[in-house]
Amino acid sequence: VETTNAPPEADKARYEQLVEQIRTHRDAYYQNDAPLVSDVEYDALFHELQLLEAQYPILAGQDSPTQEVGGEVSAAFASVTHASRMYSLEDVFSLEELDAWLERAQANAERLHPQTPVKWLCEVKIDGLALNLTYREGKLVRAATRGDGTTGEDVTHNALTISDIPQELTGSGWPAEFEVRGEVFIATDDFNAYNEALIAQGKAPLANPRNAAAGSLRQKDPEQTAKRPLRMFVHGLGRSRDFQMTEQSEAYELMRGWGLPVSPYGRVVGSRAEAKDYISEHGEKRHDLIHDIDGIVIKVNDLATQEQLGYTSRVPRWAVAYKYPPEEVHTKLLDIQVQV
Ligand code: NAD
Repeated sequence: VETTNAPPEADKARYEQLVEQIRTHRDAYYQNDAPLVSDVEYDALFHELQLLEAQYPILAGQDSPTQEVGGEVSAAFASVTHASRMYSLEDVFSLEELDAWLERAQANAERLHPQTPVKWLCEVKIDGLALNLTYREGKLVRAATRGDGTTGEDVTHNALTISDIPQELTGSGWPAEFEVRGEVFIATDDFNAYNEALIAQGKAPLANPRNAAAGSLRQKDPEQTAKRPLRMFVHGLGRSRDFQMTEQSEAYELMRGWGLPVSPYGRVVGSRAEAKDYISEHGEKRHDLIHDIDGIVIKVNDLATQEQLGYTSRVPRWAVAYKYPPEEVHTKLLDIQVQV
């Protein structure tokens, strides 16, 4: 229940504690690529903060973590201002919440374009880190991390070591200059093989593919990055000149033709029910994909509608991330307990 009243002291204190904890966790995750808590724990803190702000809007300032995108730019890298801002995604944690979100987005889209049936672009949410590539006259001129969304870190030299990322586009018809966003990740098989090699050399294995990918891309020395099996799939567009497209899926097909790595897992559907089918299907086969996922992303496919729906300070209003419930974790300890 929303109230304009000042919150009780206990809620205010809890609010301040949450902001501080979230800032600490963001720092560990984005700056050091070494989180202190699991994503599920982090998401719970963030969600609690959102609920408190919904209840007491008076608490939410512009500097609240709910109004900001991710992390800051490390001094170890040159900073880059993105030609167009990069965003995070709104999360939903249940199919009911998802339904409500899709229904609202569909109503807004239909109000804008009553003649156009809404199509949804369903994608897996790759658990890696975002990278923004700028191509000019078909050549890669810049690769930057998301940073705080406005300013990212220049990791061009490191991106040049990733073979999925074309240094020159092939084919024809590419815009004179454009930004394309995607996710850098380490495939599960590559991660396991890399760790086995580390263990064989008596070295400590890497904790998980997401943090390994982030730590690998954010190396000072590109030779170190080159040793890591980094890959990339594109999942969005930034600023572009002369890129006349109707749908995001259409843009993917063009980009595929230019040699950019497009995920094989995306699907365009014509109804909310089919979007939910996609979610249950990928929930079952999430471990058969080549990389880790931390959910599903559903986007309005029509680019004009995307632009008109626009953005909050943190997220687009035309896309949503559905997070699967946490899986049971089978630890070695548990196996031992079971055997006992
Ligand atoms: P996010 O990861 O929830 O969502 C936005 C990002 O998703 C985009 O920037 C993009 O890089 C990525 N993405 C992957 N696949 C995509 C696709 N198909 N289409 C579009 N985007 C796609 O956003 P966030 O703000 O970076 O961070 C929140 C996430 O990071 C949470 O899941 C949280 O659990 C985790 N996190 C964890 C900790 C921790 O301490 N464990 C700290 C901070 C953040």
